Amino acid sequence: MPSKRHFRPELDLEAYREPLLTILQTLLDAPEINRQTIHNALTRCPKDGVGFFRREDIVRAYRHYAGTHGLPPFDPAVLERIRLKPTRTVSGVTPVTILTKPYPCPGECIFCPSDVRMPKSYLSREPGAMRAEQNSFDPYLQTVTRLYSYHINGHPTDKIELIILGGTWSFYPETYQIWFIRRAFDALNDFGQSPELARARAAEVEAALREGSQLHPDNNTSSVSLDGADLERTYNQVVQDIYRAEMERSRREARAVTGGLRPRTPLDEFATWAELAEAQQINETAACRCVGLVVETRPDHIDPEEVLRIRRLGGTKVQIGIQSLNDDVLRLNRRGHDVAATRRAIGLLRAAGFKIHAHWMPNLYGSDPEADRADYARLFADPAIRPDELKLYPCSLIESAELMRHYRDGSWRPYTHDELLDLLAECFLQTPEYCRLTRVVRDIPSTDILTGNRITNFRELVEGALAARGLRGPDIRAREVRGRQIGPDDLRLDELWYDTSTGQEVFLQQITAAREIAGFLRLSLPAGDPLVDELAGAAMIREVHVYGQSVGIGESMPGKAQHIGLGTTLIERAATIASEHGYARLAVISSVGTREYYRRRGFADGALYQIRPLTQAAPR
Ligand code: SF4
Repeated sequence: MPSKRHFRPELDLEAYREPLLTILQTLLDAPEINRQTIHNALTRCPKDGVGFFRREDIVRAYRHYAGTHGLPPFDPAVLERIRLKPTRTVSGVTPVTILTKPYPCPGECIFCPSDVRMPKSYLSREPGAMRAEQNSFDPYLQTVTRLYSYHINGHPTDKIELIILGGTWSFYPETYQIWFIRRAFDALNDFGQSPELARARAAEVEAALREGSQLHPDNNTSSVSLDGADLERTYNQVVQDIYRAEMERSRREARAVTGGLRPRTPLDEFATWAELAEAQQINETAACRCVGLVVETRPDHIDPEEVLRIRRLGGTKVQIGIQSLNDDVLRLNRRGHDVAATRRAIGLLRAAGFKIHAHWMPNLYGSDPEADRADYARLFADPAIRPDELKLYPCSLIESAELMRHYRDGSWRPYTHDELLDLLAECFLQTPEYCRLTRVVRDIPSTDILTGNRITNFRELVEGALAARGLRGPDIRAREVRGRQIGPDDLRLDELWYDTSTGQEVFLQQITAAREIAGFLRLSLPAGDPLVDELAGAAMIREVHVYGQSVGIGESMPGKAQHIGLGTTLIERAATIASEHGYARLAVISSVGTREYYRRRGFADGALYQIRPLTQAAPR
């Protein structure tokens, strides 16, 4: 059986049918379903006369009983109102974040936490990291557990963005990478067939991990913690020491499998490209599809071969640590690469069609608020950078990071609250419309931060400070229509053109009169030689995103942005622009789960991309 840490036992709906039906009927009779009406209904019908039903029980009961026992048929709008945390899937896609195992990282960045229970840079008290550890860092278990949690809370699980975090992805062995993603796809495919099937398989994986892997929390008894001010051994040295037996087990089992000495098990940490391709193909039409796949890496680990490997793995977006565009600051913080490496990496990623999600860190050792303002401006002034998405992570002081030394000797201090607020407000205003500020301040538990800012909802503070001055940042996130009802008449197509190191970019956006954004498309018009022959003469769609609550297949909600054909309008406009600029073909960096969508819009499968001929194109 799965352990309690993975899945709470489900309520026996039939045993509680009467009170559950009463709660549902009360909600459906209410003029509006909101936090208060749900609270009232739950308190009026206590469970067993003493406790209360959970919101997830009501979600399950609604799915189960809608259309029976005198209740009206299932209505996704009702489900949307009774489920928990509606904002999580408001961007149209449900994110599933999973972490790789603790493993050495080629970086030596002095600000980076060194929690040896985690992959480099993550802290075991961060919520996502905690989930990963509880699931033994196993991709199948992590994915199923997260999907299940979304499912029981009423969120759709049909369109998933798989976000793989942890250390430097490109430094993990290729076989581990293939296996990790293959197992995440297995989880999506199984869950799509039936959540119960996936849970049963997850239980088998969990039992095997408990039996044979040091990464299972029952077996990982390491209590080593590092003191950044007095590092006798590095994270890499300690991790290799602690997990020596586990790494050896992993290698031994992979050898045994490849040598045909024993059959496959879910714990092999080994899969072939063919096995990955098979799982991806199943996912193309699965009920739980991967519509985006993200990995995170360092600029100096990006080269043409790596870019194409990430693509072959199914990647569509790369999170990349820029941190600073000042070579002195990079050197002082021992980043191990310079700005030129960042420019090269971003150029390669853009040429391959990836969405570029950069991390930038103010308050690094050697910087100051004024220098950070100038650095931020360079992110968008430099055509070789210009990221699509950005995390603003002011440097935090963590005990296990080497930065402690500089704090102790007085050569580094955290910015004051006002310094940080002023700086980030300035950053918000300088962010162009084509960029999305995905995170502002990393969600590090306050107990891990020794000194400096502990507020994690800093975005709201910045937005409040701007609003007080009658201002709003122009980035994508500040303008998203979210779940609001939008009609086609409210929207117009807007085009934003800008240069990059690899050509021109066109940011097509469907916006309201107040410039709220209902959907967008990123079109690259490359100027140089293609990275692969497949892309010769092709313009590239790097992203199509349409906002609106992520509604499940067959649960269409009239008026929501995803359902008024915005995607098709954007694609057709991109095709026209590409054709007018002399491109013979239009490529798209589609995810496995969106291949069907593009096939229906005239794109044919290539080796790494899907491509549509542009018939009216002038020769190029
Ligand atoms: S490359 Fe990233 S994970 Fe590695 S040490 Fe530097 S910041 Fe940490």
